[in-house]
Amino acid sequence: MRAARKPRRKQEAINARLDHRSPLVFDTRELGRRPGALKRVSRSVEAPRDLGNEVIGVPEGAPIELGLRLESVMDGVLVTGTGRATVKGECVRCLEPLERELDADFQEMFAYPDADARVHEDAGDDAEDEEDTLFLEDDLFDLEPVLRDAVVLALPMQPVCQDDCPGLCSDCGVRLADDPDHHHDAVDIRWAALQGLAGTVKDGEKDNMGGAEAGVDEKQEK
Ligand SMILES: [Zn+2]
Ligand SMILES: [Zn+2]
Repeated sequence: MRAARKPRRKQEAINARLDHRSPLVFDTRELGRRPGALKRVSRSVEAPRDLGNEVIGVPEGAPIELGLRLESVMDGVLVTGTGRATVKGECVRCLEPLERELDADFQEMFAYPDADARVHEDAGDDAEDEEDTLFLEDDLFDLEPVLRDAVVLALPMQPVCQDDCPGLCSDCGVRLADDPDHHHDAVDIRWAALQGLAGTVKDGEKDNMGGAEAGVDEKQEK
């Protein structure tokens, strides 16, 4: 019989007290724990470090315009909002620097600390969900992890400078979008030679491939 995995206690994961002066920390006190109470907040903050991935992201210190809607619900405060920022990175094909306007939408529930038991019950047996529950601390919440996840999710996976970016010349590395007629004569000659070759060996092609496959099989057997 497998022992049920005991979820880690939430409190262990909570860091030092939140600092209300931190730009990504928000105060919910005004909502007064009255379900239905609403508060809208707009705030311009400087991007924290590492907001993105290796290819593209929001540079540290760049402005992020936040629009937040804080809604008091039974067990906490539901935070819905958008972060708008300019992301910088490089084209994955030609490595040219690029910029994009990014809207990162998020929605997150911050539970009252004393709603702990009930939130855990709602999460059922899924220990992962419980781990993910975020809590208010002294009526404050830290938006940073939420913003970070939202930005990373909203980033383009394969950013390109233009949809049909032809990338770089595989021979000399020149950016082909800058020079559509770019070519190398030597390559042309080789290509022509290959084409001629392909014509003459076409009949033998199948046998060659079969031979290669047989070779692989042989290798695997050993
Ligand atoms: Zn490009
Ligand atoms: Zn070239």
